[in-house]
Amino acid sequence: MTAKPAAAAARATVYGYPRQGQNRELKKAVEGYWKGHVTADALRETAAGLRRSHWRQLADAGIHEVPTGDFSYYDHVLDTSVMVGTVPARHREAFDADALDGYFAMARGTQDVAPLEMTKWFDTNYHYLVPELGPDTVFSADSTQQVAELKEALALGHTPRPVIVGPLTYLLLAKPAPGVAADFEPLTLLDRLLPVYADVLADLHAAGAAWVQLDEPALVQDRTPAELNAAARAYRELGAVTDRPKLLVASYFDRLGDALKVLAASPVEGLALDFTDSGAANLDDLAAVGGLPGKRLVAGVVDGRNIWINDYQKSLATLGTLLGLAGRVDVAASCSLLHVPLDATAERDIDPQIRRWLAFARQKTTEIATLARGLAQGTDTIAAELAANRADLASRAGSPLTRDPAVRARTAAVTDADGRRSPSYAERSAAQRAHLGLPVLPTTTIGSFPQTDELRLARAALRAGRIDAAGYEERIKDEIREVISFQEKTGVDVLVHGEPERNDMVQYFAEQLTGYVATRHGWVQSYGTRYVRPPVLAGDISRPEPMTVRWTTYAQAQTSRPVKGMLTGPVTMLAWSFVRDDQPLGDTARQMALALRDEVNDLEAAGTSVIQVDEPALRETLPLRAADHAAYLAWATESFRLTTSGVRPDTQIHTHMCYAEFGDIVQAIDDLDADVISLEAARSHMQVADELAAHGYPREAGPGVWDIHSPRIPSSDEAAALLRKGLDAIPAERLWVNPDCGLKTRGWPETRASLENLVIAAREVRAEW
Ligand code: GLN
Ligand code: ZN
Repeated sequence: MTAKPAAAAARATVYGYPRQGQNRELKKAVEGYWKGHVTADALRETAAGLRRSHWRQLADAGIHEVPTGDFSYYDHVLDTSVMVGTVPARHREAFDADALDGYFAMARGTQDVAPLEMTKWFDTNYHYLVPELGPDTVFSADSTQQVAELKEALALGHTPRPVIVGPLTYLLLAKPAPGVAADFEPLTLLDRLLPVYADVLADLHAAGAAWVQLDEPALVQDRTPAELNAAARAYRELGAVTDRPKLLVASYFDRLGDALKVLAASPVEGLALDFTDSGAANLDDLAAVGGLPGKRLVAGVVDGRNIWINDYQKSLATLGTLLGLAGRVDVAASCSLLHVPLDATAERDIDPQIRRWLAFARQKTTEIATLARGLAQGTDTIAAELAANRADLASRAGSPLTRDPAVRARTAAVTDADGRRSPSYAERSAAQRAHLGLPVLPTTTIGSFPQTDELRLARAALRAGRIDAAGYEERIKDEIREVISFQEKTGVDVLVHGEPERNDMVQYFAEQLTGYVATRHGWVQSYGTRYVRPPVLAGDISRPEPMTVRWTTYAQAQTSRPVKGMLTGPVTMLAWSFVRDDQPLGDTARQMALALRDEVNDLEAAGTSVIQVDEPALRETLPLRAADHAAYLAWATESFRLTTSGVRPDTQIHTHMCYAEFGDIVQAIDDLDADVISLEAARSHMQVADELAAHGYPREAGPGVWDIHSPRIPSSDEAAALLRKGLDAIPAERLWVNPDCGLKTRGWPETRASLENLVIAAREVRAEW
């Protein structure tokens, strides 16, 4: 596989770069601005400095064309709303008075004005601010920020390519503004929006842009014929704009499917496609449409969402095939590098044996440049890099660090029966009723209680060696006693220990399971200034020792009421980690399930009668294409059952889910075979209770009656009204009373008052039965 000289023009590019800087400068500057410590000018200077340094890093790594407009103070979808003039009416005044403060008000809300809703960016862990549109929306072009950043990069001698959220994706991600009919379809605004995009394109052209990238990840989802027609119309019209830069339409996260033909036939000059595993079908699809003769193809061969080094040989083979299918082939990551941490060389604590397998954003830019060089000048010119890459890959493939024979043998021996509880739910339910002796409409919480500054300080002191393990343990025990005694006093029926020992519901377990590697600086933007550090799953998973048992038993020793054991489920563990890419995810899930099963069984053996296995990520991990749902749900539900099916019939298994609408996965929820599920429901007025009822869901459920995402204290009347609403759908003997989610982000005062009201509401409604 030697690259042909026909690729002499191959260039290296990326669609976006991590925003925060090496030392999280952006987070500090933005939060400092919010607190009044940093002036607007200082914030702008920090931002410009970060952009300069990012472009410099990219150019130094050998990236020929750098992105502009990918930087953001908070979120690039919100930036697009500003660009097309859709500031909601409730924020207009603040925005006109001061654009920066108005921008942050839209993102975070103020005392009096609600922010835009926030939701997940496709199937990543990044969250964007949802545009609010309606039939009266008037768009207007404001290209100021895009043009300014383009000019900055040009002035520094770079070859920039502005990146903008495309018009289809913008409208498909939007929702009806408050007060607009729920069935309003933002896509009906396309004809009004296109002239605004045309204006922006003209401005960028005038400012010196040769190419502009329009991101259309919404086109990798299943789209109706009408939506595909809209895409055809949009790009026909934008293509017809005179005085415009060349257009590159970018897709990522999955295959383009039917939209490929539409875009291939459009007048746009270039397409960017994902050729990693997630978009692998693009290769055949591209051949099937006859390639992209005369167009530029940007090939996303380096995985932009995971942290493993690229397989150069494999990528060069793909690129070699693509050379015959397009007028010109360039090399890129599969998506913006926003979704990976900045620099693996900063991870000095990671075993160098493992670190050589890791590629964060900086390493990926080098990979992209190397592949482009190999493509343009022949693979001999990258012989040394190829040899090093082969050696790194071989060291991973053969490493005992990734393979544990005992784990392999155990997963291979799993049978279907291992993942089934017997007897049936109906019999179990009777046994649990007798064993637990709970009242009708039992009250409980989701697990965590307020994570106070004191607890965080104790953890920091332990890390810094200012207190020893025994001192820390005392601190945690104090907290557990307080949480238990408060719940007893309040009259909660099924108690929790409060999770004071957990920094994070995934990291806490990752630190105790084999196969995981923690990063020190591996921050990834979740939303705004919130960054997370997903742990890296590098090897086979096992649980050397019990992880939660001593805390749960300590809590149980303080009370005669049942204390719920609390675990994070296998799907959520994987969803919020960087997972290995050298075996199917379902295999990794099975290993995780067996490790967690050991913990579930140990909790039961230690006297725990109720065990909750949280799966808040079950819905969000659903693949983007409906055709892939069944395969995912099969291994996802199997791994949950495998985790929970080793217990006695009278041990009650709970699960919990939040952050989503569940209407389309009720069957999967049923397939978990959990005895009780708690779900987020307060904001949607118990809609999920109706959805469960419509499906004929046979088990117990606790749709949340307290919206814990807000500091507001629900009155007991309010909670009781929601409960009565729940009773319309779920019979009293199967309805639980609980908040929407854990209380770790809440303060104690509102937690006390709200939980008291919740118990009063439960008693009141019980009395009616
Ligand atoms: N048990 C966890 C808690 O209470 C659940 C968190 C979640 O669902 N995200 O915090
Ligand atoms: Zn939750």
